[in-house]
Parts: sequence; C-alpha cells; structure tokens
Amino acid sequence: MSELPEIESVVYFLKPHLINRTIKKLSLEKENILVNKFKEELFDGLIDKTIVDFTRRGKMLLFLLNDDSRLYIHPRMVGQLITCPKSFPMIKHTHFTMELDNEEEFRYIDVRRLGKLYYLKKDEEDKVTGIHQLGYEYDDEKLDEKTFKYMLLKYKKSIKEALLDQSLVAGIGNIYADEILFTAKILPNKKTQNLNDDEIQSLLKAIREVLKHYIEVNESVGYETYLKGEGKEFENMHVLRLYDSKICPICNAELKRIRISSRGTVYCPNCQK
Ligand SMILES: [Zn+2]
Repeated sequence: MSELPEIESVVYFLKPHLINRTIKKLSLEKENILVNKFKEELFDGLIDKTIVDFTRRGKMLLFLLNDDSRLYIHPRMVGQLITCPKSFPMIKHTHFTMELDNEEEFRYIDVRRLGKLYYLKKDEEDKVTGIHQLGYEYDDEKLDEKTFKYMLLKYKKSIKEALLDQSLVAGIGNIYADEILFTAKILPNKKTQNLNDDEIQSLLKAIREVLKHYIEVNESVGYETYLKGEGKEFENMHVLRLYDSKICPICNAELKRIRISSRGTVYCPNCQK
C-alpha cells in the first residue's frame, strides 16, 4: 500500500541520501514506465545533474535537479523506492536506477509495473503528471473548517468518496480513509452535504491526526529497517485498527464490510454514526 504516510516516509528515509548528490549513471529496464519522454531524453537530462530537493505532493514523489528540471515518480500500488550501497543485492523487478556520486544508488522496484515516471525540463509545461489537479495537502493551514465545509457541501456524494477524491485532500487512499472515518466516528456512506459542523470539525481533525500518527509509526523504525524491508514493509500494517480485523477495537462489535463506488470499505456500525 502506498498512501500518504508511506510516501511521506519514503521522503524521510531517502532525502538525506539524495540531496546534493550528482547522478552519474542510469538504467531503465522497463521503458514503458517512462510516460512522456524517450529513454535517451531522460538520460541526457539527468546525467551529471545534482539533486537539490526530494519532496512529495499527494502520492507523487518529486526530484528537483540543479537545472530546474524535474523527475516525478508515481509509485501507485506497489512501487518501492530505496537508496542503497551499489553492492546491495539487486532486487527482482528493479526497473529504474540512478547511480550517485557517493557509492550509493537510487532504485525503483515495481512488481506490478503500475508506477509511472515523468521528466519535465526547466519551464516545460506540465500536461502529464496531473499534479495541478490535486487538492490540499492534509497539513495545509489554508484547509480550515470553513473551506472544508464548503468543499463537502458542494460535493454531494458519500464522505468515503470525498476522502478518496484527490482533488479535495490529496494523498488519502482506501485504507486510511476507513481509519479516518473510524476516528471521526462517521459512517462512510453518509452524504457529505448532511454532515453537521461538529462532524466536519472531527473529520478534519481526524485526517490530520491519523495521517500524522501513521507517518510517525512508519518513521520510527529507522533507515536500516526500511532498507531491509526493501521499502515496502512498513510498520503501519501491524497497527491499523480496521484493516484485516473482524472486531471493533473499541466496542468489540463485529465490523461491517461494504462497497462504496467499488472500493472495499470497513466500519463499526456501533461506533460510527
Ligand atoms: Zn465499535
């Protein structure tokens, strides 16, 4: 699973290994993951450039280079990103690597090949990544109760769909949407226009608390453990309250499983109203 807390943690673990490093050598084994350029253009663009920033927007990762060009990686469902010593054993399904100037290497691994790479030159208009359609970041101060309420009143679908809609708040996926609604004690199929002010307040608070909490859980393990888990075994899975559970951790009622616009959804019929 790659939702906001996982992507945020990738930045946390990899950033110190990437910043101010110069790219010396590249490999791209599966060319079709590169969306908007030919392999040669990507290599010409990246070779001998220095990574000046590595950040996240929604569920997308962004390398900013010293010539103001940008490399985006959208790992989708199962993409894994690591930095490691060059001698680190090659993991199967490694599709893209960047050798750095310090005996380390960046690697992108993707068993299902669903992830995407985009490369944009300086001042090149972004018509491909969809990043400008993303909504607020969960911790953006401009996302206050008034703004959130206005968005939800207009939306007029279930609150679960609203949380999954990347154009409202970016980065929330199926698993954390359920955790957030459980924390806010709101039923997932409740229509957004029927939420009262208290519910909207709890929901916004729950978005911030839940994402922040799971980011901290992920990051508590340290880089060595992250690398050992090949950038895919996050600690979150062991502490999620609804995922894989049958019984509510608060009231012991049997959890219900339904589908909301084809997404599996789990909730407690007792705690959530
Ligand atoms: Zn319950």
